Amino acid sequence: MPVPLVIVHGGATEFDEENHKAILAAVQRAAHIGFCTIENGGSALDAVESAIWQLEETTLFTAGRGARPNSEGEIELDAMVMDGNRLQSGAVMAIKGVVHPISLARYILERTNNSQFAADGAKRIYDKMVREGYRQPIEPGSTLPPLLSQGCDTVGAVAIDSSGRIVGGSSTSGWSGKLPGRIGDSPIIGAGVYANDVAAASCTGRGEQILRIVMARMAVHHIESGMTTQQAVETVMRELREKTAGEAGLIMIDKNGNVGVGFDTKHMPVAINGGDKIKPYSSMRPVWP
Ligand code: ASP
Repeated sequence: MPVPLVIVHGGATEFDEENHKAILAAVQRAAHIGFCTIENGGSALDAVESAIWQLEETTLFTAGRGARPNSEGEIELDAMVMDGNRLQSGAVMAIKGVVHPISLARYILERTNNSQFAADGAKRIYDKMVREGYRQPIEPGSTLPPLLSQGCDTVGAVAIDSSGRIVGGSSTSGWSGKLPGRIGDSPIIGAGVYANDVAAASCTGRGEQILRIVMARMAVHHIESGMTTQQAVETVMRELREKTAGEAGLIMIDKNGNVGVGFDTKHMPVAINGGDKIKPYSSMRPVWP
């Protein structure tokens, strides 16, 4: 039986030194909440939604409450979640007036026959989600996290649960000053996120470059071809650099619970939580246990 494990990242970029402590505490808390959700009987899907919900709730990352405005001063959010074993995903793009797009992405995955919704259409699906009581509203545009994560003390995430189910997710406002309607890699299946029954990957960095090599799918493909998770991470990052001059970061997990982490930006806060079986770990810099 695989050991449950949750890995979260807070984005590949450069963070102000003065915020490092708070950022590390936030990713640790999100990984802890994700793991706690599994311990409460939740699945890897519950864990990824819960961990990303926590990161969306802080103002430290370019997602949820920390979202950066586009060139017209408006907030437009993207998010995606993919259930590897079912090979199904839900994504929301350029949505306005919603703080937790990750929960809507999950609703799209679980309760609709479609995979992707954008802009006003996505907002209408959000209103339907709240009307149906799938998630409880706290204030206009904001909903409570999944029930199983409540009672734990607390933007990309990947997780495996004890049934071997692998899930990956991502949530972002994209880059500050982006053009209205611009959509990066994060909500695009295979680019920002991919998961199947072998592995899951969640990427961060310049979306335009990540899209060009379909980075998350390629990373999973490398594992299917026999690489370890860490070799797959390093290979796909090299491919991104060589083919697009892009910088990025990604986190991965495979069906045996092996972890891969990499980034070539200055920082990428990452936290790993596997309960008492695996020592919790977090870092801003590329030094992995
Ligand atoms: N990849 C995201 C985008 O281009 C940004 C990020 O990872 O911070 O929208």
